[in-house]
Amino acid sequence: MSVLVTGGGGYIGSHMVWHLTDAGEDVIVVDNLSTGFDWAIAPEAVFVEGDCGDAGLIGRLIGEHAIDAIVHFAGSLNVEESVSDPLVYYANNTAKSRTLIELAVKAGVEHFVFSSTAAVYGTPDSYPVSEDAPLRPESPYGRSKLMTEWMLADAAAAHGLRYAALRYFNVAGADPKGRTGESTRNTTHLVKISCQAALGKRDGLTVFGSDYDTPDGTGVRDYIHVTDLVAAHADALEALRAGESNLVANCGYGRGFSVLEVVETVKRVSGNDFAVTLGPRRAGDPAAVVASPERIVERLGWTPHHDDLDRIVESALRWEDALSRRNRH
Ligand code: UDP
Repeated sequence: MSVLVTGGGGYIGSHMVWHLTDAGEDVIVVDNLSTGFDWAIAPEAVFVEGDCGDAGLIGRLIGEHAIDAIVHFAGSLNVEESVSDPLVYYANNTAKSRTLIELAVKAGVEHFVFSSTAAVYGTPDSYPVSEDAPLRPESPYGRSKLMTEWMLADAAAAHGLRYAALRYFNVAGADPKGRTGESTRNTTHLVKISCQAALGKRDGLTVFGSDYDTPDGTGVRDYIHVTDLVAAHADALEALRAGESNLVANCGYGRGFSVLEVVETVKRVSGNDFAVTLGPRRAGDPAAVVASPERIVERLGWTPHHDDLDRIVESALRWEDALSRRNRH
């Protein structure tokens, strides 16, 4: 049995590949390296440079390797970019997923784990948000991911494919062993940006909005350590292989931190001060998005081991520093 991981050179995908190879799984990675890096891929995995929407390539790989599961990370993830270039998002996140699902069905690949997002909820009426909350994505990014959830549900009903769609909240931190981390160029993510500011890699940070209806006026998010997130994928895969039914589940800890709390944590943990400017809101940013993690805990027995903002920040700082020392960026 082998696992096909799309986007295995990316931030979350590369952590998943390490997790799987650590567990002794045979892993085939497909990544077009548009945003990912070949050096981030565990050497024990077979790496094929190519596109997850290339039906010929994926069909051949499924035929050549005894693939029983696809873990699908590849895709585009910038909300603002999705507003200005929506068709790219529907191509990369929806159309290519359709191809992959069709190939899985045709070849009898039974298990599919999909990277979905809290963006499918849009601005929740209240938080913590459960999976039964209304689905009102506010961007092409959120809609492109939700469409894939729907395709999976329909393909599962019609063809017996079994799947887990995991709705990520704010993923942060890096592999505690320092083997990979968030290496994305031009990141928009708060934890990485704050760490870069703390290490002098950028001139401080702008807080996007300080007039939200939240305790300190800045946006509140549920930051989940990437190691706990990939463990959720591994748990989901194990459950599917054991014959458990399909799962759509939030991945978050169920508690929120404001932008200013994150910034203060990064300053304290790094011991470095940096300039913080209060700026206008960023288009499309909800005030607060916090997960209710009850379903994934109940269904998979998922147990987070890194639910601690200081540890998330420590690992992110270590990785950011390692990137500089490795002369990566
Ligand atoms: N944010 C900020 N300044 C930045 C980047 C992010 O104030 O330079 C805020 C953003 O408005 C949101 C939170 O930090 O409230 C998390 O943003 P991020 O882009 O990390 O993730 P998102 O929640 O948008 O997926």
